[in-house]
Amino acid sequence: MGFKSKARKKRAAADAAAGRTGKDKKEEFEGQVRCNVAGCDNFADKKIGGRRLAFDRAADVWGEDGIEGQSRRISVCKSCYREWKKAKKDDMDEWS
Ligand SMILES: [Zn+2]
Repeated sequence: MGFKSKARKKRAAADAAAGRTGKDKKEEFEGQVRCNVAGCDNFADKKIGGRRLAFDRAADVWGEDGIEGQSRRISVCKSCYREWKKAKKDDMDEWS
């Protein structure tokens, strides 16, 4: 109580001022991992279908400029992973 609840109130007020009340927004999954595909801001947590891809393999589909971050393995969200899988499949179709 005391200080802590006061601080929380203050923060809520700041959120409201910034338009972050969140009341009229539906509850969204709050993830820990961001999708590394440029322009995508979905979460890439494992439990919601996110995947880890080697940078090079991801760059085959999005290009190096299409990927945020420089790590050797990147995180992609479920829908980006689908996109990636589809692109890779098309690749393979061309080869067969
Ligand atoms: Zn994504």
